[in-house]
Amino acid sequence: MAKAILIKYRDCFNCHSCEVACQMHNGYKPGQGGVKVNAVGPWEYAPGKWEFDYVPFFTEQCDLCAERTALGKLPTCVQHCEARCLEYGDFEELAERARGQRKVILQAL
Ligand code: SF4
Ligand code: SF4
Repeated sequence: MAKAILIKYRDCFNCHSCEVACQMHNGYKPGQGGVKVNAVGPWEYAPGKWEFDYVPFFTEQCDLCAERTALGKLPTCVQHCEARCLEYGDFEELAERARGQRKVILQAL
């Protein structure tokens, strides 16, 4: 069954733990990594209403931690996200969980 990571970016607070964990675990060079957190905004789109989000973006260097997950472990970025905004699991299950939610992205390989 296909695996995926559900990114609930409304809960991301830009701590960068996912980036550091991925970089250290995989030995990636500075600036590289399987996940990068980008800022969207801030801008005011209506009086008193703001768009401002941090959005974890998964790159070509992400293999969904194939080695770790083959051993039954969580991807290292998921394990180190204290906000619990990254969830690893079966694609269909996560897609069902994402249904109707705003500010979520489903990342699959
Ligand atoms: S799943 Fe693994 S390889 Fe992909 S971003 Fe997370 S830590 Fe990096
Ligand atoms: S570890 Fe979680 S809260 Fe921190 S930047 Fe990454 S996704 Fe966002």
